[in-house]
Amino acid sequence: MKIGKVVQRNIPAIFKYCETQDQSEFARLQDRQYSKETFDINYPFCQPVSEIGQTEHIRYWKDNHIVHGVPVRVTSQWFNPGTSNSLQLLQKYLAKRGIEFDDTPYMFPESSPDAALATNRKTRGRYKLHAIGNGQNAVIRFILGQLGDEQFSAAHWDDVITSFGNSCAYCGAKGDLSMDHVVPINKQKLGEHRIGNLVPACRSCNAQKGSTDFQDFLTGDPSKIAAIEAHMAKHSYTPIGDHKNISLILDIAHQEIRQLADRYVTIIEAMLQDEKGDT
Ligand SMILES: [Zn+2]
Repeated sequence: MKIGKVVQRNIPAIFKYCETQDQSEFARLQDRQYSKETFDINYPFCQPVSEIGQTEHIRYWKDNHIVHGVPVRVTSQWFNPGTSNSLQLLQKYLAKRGIEFDDTPYMFPESSPDAALATNRKTRGRYKLHAIGNGQNAVIRFILGQLGDEQFSAAHWDDVITSFGNSCAYCGAKGDLSMDHVVPINKQKLGEHRIGNLVPACRSCNAQKGSTDFQDFLTGDPSKIAAIEAHMAKHSYTPIGDHKNISLILDIAHQEIRQLADRYVTIIEAMLQDEKGDT
C-alpha cells in the first residue's frame, strides 16, 4: 500500500481535529522533533506555505490546506526505508484522538491540475471563448469587495465626487468620471470596495493606472497624493497592504474557480456521453 496516498486521505480529518478539538496541535504538527517522534518522519508534518524554503518545496505535497487561516502543505516524505512504521504510527495517532482512520488510497480529484491542463489545451483553440480568468478575477474582486461591514449608498459616492471638486482625482479633468479603486482590487494589491478606496477618475486615467500604485502613478504630484491619502483617512480606510497569507488564500480561491469549471465540464460531458449510449 502506498502510505503517502493513505496519509493524504486522512489529512482533512487531522486538520479538522486541530481546528475543533485541540488548537495547540497545529503548532506541534509544524515541529520537526514532534513529527519524528509521532510519525517517524524526517520533516515536520506540515509547514505554512510561506515558510517552506525554495529547496524544500519538493518535500511537500502541492495541495494547500487552510488551517486556522494559514495556508499549509503537508510533507510527502513518508518513506523511511527499512525502519519505518509510519503507517502504524499514523493509525495510533488517529485512534488516540478519536479520528476515524480512512485506509482507502487518496485519488486525485477529477479536477486535478492535469485535468485543468487538458481542458486548457482543449479550450485554447476556441476562438472567442470566454476566458476563465475573467471569472476567476471577478470572484476575487467579489471576495475583497465584501470584507468588513461598511455600508454606503449612491449619495455617499456623490459626496466623494463633490469632495474631489467634480474632477478626476489623478489629473483633475472634469466630465465623464468613473469609479476607481485607489488600491487595485486584485489578489496582489488586496484593495477593497470601501468608500475610502474609491475616487473619481477620468476614463483615460482609469485605463492607464491599471494595477499601478497610486503613489507611483502620481509621481511628481504630491498634492494629489495627499488629497487621496486624506480621503482614505477621512473614511478610515487602511489598505491591507502586503499580506502573503491573504494572497495565498486568494490564489487558492482563484484555482478553485478553474477546478469548479472543469468539474462541471466533466459532469456534463459524462451526461452527454451517457445519453449517447442510451440511444
Ligand atoms: Zn484623469
